[in-house]
Amino acid sequence: MTGDEAPIPKEVPPKSPDLSAWYNAICYKAELVSLAPVRGCIVLRPYGYGLWERLQSALDQRFKETGHENAYFPLLIPESLLTREAEHVEGFAPEVAWVTQGGNEPLTERLAIRPTSEVIVGTMYAQWVQSYRDLPILINQWVNVVRWEKRTRPFLRTLEFLWQEGHTAHATESEANEEVQRMLDVYVDVAENIAAVPVYKGEKSASERFAGANHTFSIEALMPDGRALQAGTSHALGQNFAKAYDIKFADENQAVQYAWTTSWGMSWRMLGALIMVHGDDRGLRIPPKMAPIEAVIVPIVKGGSDEATVAARELYATLKKAGLRVKLDERDLRPGNKFADWEMRGVPLRIELGANDIAQGVATVVRRDKLKGEEGAKSAVPLAELSSRCSELLIAIQANMFAQARTFLHSHTIEVSDRAEFYKLVRERAGMIDIPWCERGECEAHVKAETSATSRNLRPLDGAAVCVACGEPARVRAYFAQAY
Ligand SMILES: [Zn+2]
Repeated sequence: MTGDEAPIPKEVPPKSPDLSAWYNAICYKAELVSLAPVRGCIVLRPYGYGLWERLQSALDQRFKETGHENAYFPLLIPESLLTREAEHVEGFAPEVAWVTQGGNEPLTERLAIRPTSEVIVGTMYAQWVQSYRDLPILINQWVNVVRWEKRTRPFLRTLEFLWQEGHTAHATESEANEEVQRMLDVYVDVAENIAAVPVYKGEKSASERFAGANHTFSIEALMPDGRALQAGTSHALGQNFAKAYDIKFADENQAVQYAWTTSWGMSWRMLGALIMVHGDDRGLRIPPKMAPIEAVIVPIVKGGSDEATVAARELYATLKKAGLRVKLDERDLRPGNKFADWEMRGVPLRIELGANDIAQGVATVVRRDKLKGEEGAKSAVPLAELSSRCSELLIAIQANMFAQARTFLHSHTIEVSDRAEFYKLVRERAGMIDIPWCERGECEAHVKAETSATSRNLRPLDGAAVCVACGEPARVRAYFAQAY
């Protein structure tokens, strides 16, 4: 993608020839974001924020169901704290923004703007934990973070972004490991069942691991251009942060132990995945569970008659009362322009109400997930059945969109056993290229240098095999792909 130096196109170009141009255009055209007068930053407009709120509520509900509570830690982190976990600070140093002055006074100690919060959270956990009875601590926070990115792509790469970060501390390693997998599964659930984006879960390779973690696990989605997108991560931090920040407790035998900590995060990047996976030449297609507006009502007003307006307002009140997220479009525009506008914004259902419909006691309901003219794309629904029929259609749309995306992922996941074929396919961005892999850093570096691809995530290997990339003994199975 060309980033923020590229002009924003007036029209949305077709999706498949140039995904970046389409993506960039649709993010602005659908009024999800605006470029901010700050390099590298975007403004999340109300429709974009509406998407974020849907994601946020799905995650937050699951965090609470799994025993977590929300809290809030400061944006600024003293430099002396940040530097205590050596690997962590080394990993993040190139991306940290610093505050060096307060008012007119230069600061005696620089303050980092959080790139992530393990450091400040760990410092506080050290104060809060004394005994095994104080564990586990299960906390999440919804915040912005800053990482000094050189390029901008809405949602995918911005200097400041919104996310959630979970931070937990446990008495035992096995409990911490369970937590890491539990939260990874929450991300799989939300990606697949809410955003309708199918993913592969697995462990990251050593070179792709979070700075300071013993193990990092991710969910990876596949974009239509054959690039993978990491959409959520869950880290087993071992006792590394506990030792650096002194999170100690007396166990049941009064012996002093270091806690085992985890962290896990999903950001608004997930929205970027959803936009790319589901959109088409007409614009966004939003899965119903993520849609700020599930159905839009467009009255077809002809001549001086306000019959359609009156009926549409009644219908709006009925559907709203039935719990649908519904919008009534009474703008002074031609119906055709309204149709195109709401299609571009990806609203799952459009309800048209004209004189003919009213005479027959029906409304015309149009599904956004289907092509124009496709069977079931358009139906006449009796007004009395409309709210229950809309609910059924929304469920069907959600399922159809997930099935379409899953078909794409599966048909672009390719098991390869030949080395030349492997290099060719990752270079061509043919999809998730699945191979037995040696797990060696130098092998991954070679693949990256030759093809720009990296391992996306790993899973156990059945039986013995050789690494398809280099010929050494394989230790795992890995998906390789170029990535966002
Ligand atoms: Zn290898």
